[in-house]
Amino acid sequence: MCGIVAYIGKQEAFPILTKGLQRLEYRGYDSAGIALRNGQGEFEMFKKKGKVADLLAHVNGKKLTANMGIGHTRWATHGPPNDVNAHPHFSGNNRLVMVHNGIIENYEALKVALEEAGHTFQSDTDTEVLVHLIEELQKRENLPLEEAVRIALSKVVGAYAIVIMDREDPDKLVGARKGSPLLVGIGDGEFFFASDGTPIVEHTRRVVYLDDEQIAVVTRDGNLQIKTIENEQLSPFVEQLDLQIESIEKDGYDYFMLKEIHEQPHTVADAMRGRINAKEGWIRLGGVEEYTNRLLQANRYIMVACGTSWHAAMLGEYLFEELARIPVEVEYASEFRYRNPILTEKDVVLGLSQSGETADTLAALQLAKERGALLYGIVNVVGSSIARLTNAGSYIHAGPEIGVASTKAFTGQVVLLTLMAMSIGYKKGTISKSYFHRLLSALEEIPAKMESLLSQCEEQVRYIAAEMKNATNALYLGRGYNFPIALEGALKLKEISYIHAEGYPAAEMKHGPIALIDKNMPVIVIATNKSAYEKIVSNIQEVKAREGRIIAVVTEGDKTISPLADYTIEIPETEEVLTPLLSVIPLQLLSYHIAVMRNCNVDQPRNLAKSVTVE
Ligand code: GLU
Repeated sequence: MCGIVAYIGKQEAFPILTKGLQRLEYRGYDSAGIALRNGQGEFEMFKKKGKVADLLAHVNGKKLTANMGIGHTRWATHGPPNDVNAHPHFSGNNRLVMVHNGIIENYEALKVALEEAGHTFQSDTDTEVLVHLIEELQKRENLPLEEAVRIALSKVVGAYAIVIMDREDPDKLVGARKGSPLLVGIGDGEFFFASDGTPIVEHTRRVVYLDDEQIAVVTRDGNLQIKTIENEQLSPFVEQLDLQIESIEKDGYDYFMLKEIHEQPHTVADAMRGRINAKEGWIRLGGVEEYTNRLLQANRYIMVACGTSWHAAMLGEYLFEELARIPVEVEYASEFRYRNPILTEKDVVLGLSQSGETADTLAALQLAKERGALLYGIVNVVGSSIARLTNAGSYIHAGPEIGVASTKAFTGQVVLLTLMAMSIGYKKGTISKSYFHRLLSALEEIPAKMESLLSQCEEQVRYIAAEMKNATNALYLGRGYNFPIALEGALKLKEISYIHAEGYPAAEMKHGPIALIDKNMPVIVIATNKSAYEKIVSNIQEVKAREGRIIAVVTEGDKTISPLADYTIEIPETEEVLTPLLSVIPLQLLSYHIAVMRNCNVDQPRNLAKSVTVE
């Protein structure tokens, strides 16, 4: 949520910042802005409602020469997306300029106090209050910038990643974080700040990931200092950025989402690489091996997540209860953290998040940690906050996911949950050796099956999308392992094509949504399960009797459903527990093609942002 990039060094800052912002745009795209400090010691600021392209149009080719600056792409929390609320924000005396990701929760009280001290504000943002507070402290006590930042942050409640620049100091940038991500890139005689590695990857791979409540001061003479807001000096821990440039480019696809859908055979293989061997019959997941006893002896698992990750978590419930016979509760992280949940040291709390920065999931895990539960993270972004907070975990290894609608991270999470449930079930003896081996072989075949499904179904899905594109509502039905897929299919359609959609357990339809069905209602039924097959066929009959338009996802060779359905999409046969990995693919493609046909911006749907680092 919101992207930050900043630069100090010898190069021209403008192209580094604007290219960086384009890379970060998936994090927020309500407005974009930059501030540069030029050689004459003046700030030049440009900010504009809309995308980075609107900002560039606003700059209109003006030659901007400066070798330090800060940039921001916003996902508005306080104040509407407009030019004034866009970041960066000046302090009252225009000496300081700052970008911020997060929410200053006590901004109102701080604002009142500052107003009493004579400050006036231009924007509606919480951010502007913080930069005024820093100015006030700097001015009142004649403090160096980093000290004013440190004291101001000790007065702040909420979440932040900030980078701030002082007009009077041509040689320094100060950054800090709590709750929102920020890293420092160390180049050759230059430094960067960024929300993630994407804006800096072609400049340097040496990075320091800041931890909560840490402040970094970088200077033009090559000095990097890190301290906590308690004023404790730390030595920087330099890591190697693991990111390939190709993975953050579209590679000939119209949208990142389409590229990411098509990457799934590889990302799913990467999620399993080195972790399973069907021939030798083993699964090895680092985190599971390390904490085997606690994982096996746990009373229950609680999965906390938001959005698409919550759907993966629901699948986790089906998988763990069936394969490992462990009771599972699936929780919306935002609800869980605020309702004083019952947690003990015998609980395992799994946090699922693509970015590893989702604010509610992170806070839910923090709460669980305080209460002694074992924390296990399933995230994509290496070194992210959740990865660092949890006791153990497994990375999805899906590579950067840039399309706002999650696809490959979802299938990666499902693979990891499957491996974990199988491994724990096998250790506990709740699945037989022969079933374990059968599942392992079936898992190894999934990437090739995904590949053939992608090449076979897309044309047909496009045809169905053309038929469905003017619908105003859609219903997704599934049972068992494919109920969470119905939820996920509906979410994909809503978020990128703005068609209202609901996912339901197929049998639940009779308890309400059936009232909505008429000849205009597309009903997407995932009917690939062997168990309860007859039941879902009956559900299809019920829809048909009410003239609903049926789009059925079935197993190849199915002869029963195609005469009933208006369209059938076949997926390759596999073990029932693994069908979600295949059945989700046509649903991802369907929402993608409908969104394209409706002229929607697939990668940057309105009001959304990729990594939700605010509550
Ligand atoms: N709270 C700030 C605002 O509304 C920052 C939001 C963000 O993270 O982009 O401007």
